[in-house]
Amino acid sequence: MRIDSILAKKQTFSFEIFPPRGDLPVEQALDVANQMTVQRPDWISVTFSAGGTGNTQNTAAIAGRIQRETQTNALAHLTCLGSTRADVDAYVEGLHARGVENVLALRGDRAPGRSAIDFSYASELIRHLKQSAPWLCVGAACYPEGHVEAESFESDIEHLKEKQDAGADFLVTQLFFDNELFYRFREACVRARIKIPITVGIMPFTSTKQIQRMAFTCGASIPAAVIKRLIAAGDNPADQALAGIEYACEQLRDLAANGVDGLHIYSMNKPAVAQATHDALVDCGYLGVQ
Ligand code: FAD
Repeated sequence: MRIDSILAKKQTFSFEIFPPRGDLPVEQALDVANQMTVQRPDWISVTFSAGGTGNTQNTAAIAGRIQRETQTNALAHLTCLGSTRADVDAYVEGLHARGVENVLALRGDRAPGRSAIDFSYASELIRHLKQSAPWLCVGAACYPEGHVEAESFESDIEHLKEKQDAGADFLVTQLFFDNELFYRFREACVRARIKIPITVGIMPFTSTKQIQRMAFTCGASIPAAVIKRLIAAGDNPADQALAGIEYACEQLRDLAANGVDGLHIYSMNKPAVAQATHDALVDCGYLGVQ
């Protein structure tokens, strides 16, 4: 089912997984996805070479198997830097053959040896997809704190509006740890006449090291409340991870109370994260008891 048609009816709950590296990536990813279907997400998204893993081959295959074998809607990510129109068309043909109707259209991070060929920005990819494959539901990324390369918060919002104008059907946010920044961003979207649904991406931090890496890779600010929890957790990895789950659940409950279009969990392939976030959202009434 198309994600925009689900968002038109209800507030959604979804997970992101990434193709693991190794010899059996499709089977491993499918095992993770299968465990997450217990929480009956509205969809599961599958990343495309995220974090420079180079793992692009299996995204369509995993998304197709999620769609077919778990009866859960799949959202396949796609980046366009370094790709030709023909590459994109072949990928989309692969999605069509596998029954996947949803794609998250991204530029991808700049990397040595990966420069623009036919597409410089995600908005160009979105326009191409909407023209060449009108049956596709196309999502796009957005950044509550502004994208790390953006000249300013305002210019990033202008470029986000270009993605809507190119035909994007819905948005998924970059992770953030301070909900107030999301509410400020949402108001800026209203002022800029960005009207498509915004699903909110939340990632529980797992350790002090990991959250520091996140701050540098996606420019997410770390509020004092998070630092205090990490200090209280001390050096114990299990306590740090628990603090991350608890903090994310608090963020989710607050977002649920503030009327978001959807909540998307960066699960890091951990079924326990899917379970904990699901339970928090049942507790606060965002999700019904299943
Ligand atoms: P764009 O929308 O093209 O924006 C990139 C930058 O260019 C921004 O600073 C924007 O302000 C600016 N810009 C846009 N248009 C113009 C213009 N016309 N003129 C001048 N400047 C402009 N990466 C992966 O490799 N694989 C994944 O699976 C993946 N999944 C993601 C999922 C989500 C929800 C998010 C938020 C990010 C994901 N990323 C992924 C990371 C993403 O590829 C990077 O953040 C990338 O740097 C930007 O992608 P974009 O689609 O937002 O780019």
